[in-house]
Amino acid sequence: MGRNRLVAGNWKMNGSSALIQSFFDDMKNQSLPDQVGLLLCPPLVYLPEMLAAARGTGISVGAQTVCETAEAGAFTGEVSAEMLSDIGASHVIVGHSERRHIYGESSDMVASKFSAAQSAGLVPILCVGETLEEREAGNMETVLAEQLGCVLSQCGASALGQAIVAYEPVWAIGTGKTASPEQAQAAHAFLRSQVAAQDDTIAAGLQILYGGSVKPDNAAELFACEDVDGGLIGGASLKVESFLGIARAG
Ligand code: PEP
Repeated sequence: MGRNRLVAGNWKMNGSSALIQSFFDDMKNQSLPDQVGLLLCPPLVYLPEMLAAARGTGISVGAQTVCETAEAGAFTGEVSAEMLSDIGASHVIVGHSERRHIYGESSDMVASKFSAAQSAGLVPILCVGETLEEREAGNMETVLAEQLGCVLSQCGASALGQAIVAYEPVWAIGTGKTASPEQAQAAHAFLRSQVAAQDDTIAAGLQILYGGSVKPDNAAELFACEDVDGGLIGGASLKVESFLGIARAG
């Protein structure tokens, strides 16, 4: 299919200066896999430190969320896409299920974050995924269509030419339950078909990552699926051994 593989780590609200130092010390002794992009998204406060530690390693560094408003101003506590770009971040995760479900971010708000990120030159990683209840009620495709559809209608299919999508079933995040390769492939193919309905070329080139309890021992079978182009990794991205074990899988 010709799409590159990306393995991205979401450290969530984990880590410390000491962890960043030891992580990149451990990295020095490792050879990185060819043909696999690597990205790490630490908590915001550690971005400058991780950017400095990652310089020259070939590992990109991104943020976990961003303000939906592009203009600077009276938005206490928020950080703009321009600011992330200014300090050297390359990517930003938008619409992670923890942002949608704990902090009540709507699909419209996520689409605004996506747009603000792209306007500042960042690559947004748009997370979509259904809860267990939604899957069991047979609504997986409806949920994915709504979450992706908001971005398609607000930003246009062409915007997905400079973006990444991550399918992260909520029931698989941090639970140790991974989607089977068949479940992942079906969801990824559905997402790609939603984009293809508007633009075949953009759909064919779109990287769609799988996230949800990916580990070194289950990564290869997930990455072997035709429409799975890598992973968004939570817990297992905090250790070099498991992060690189996943990146080397398959
Ligand atoms: C995530 O945080 O996006 C995630 C997929 O977490 P985990 O790999 O721990 O399930």
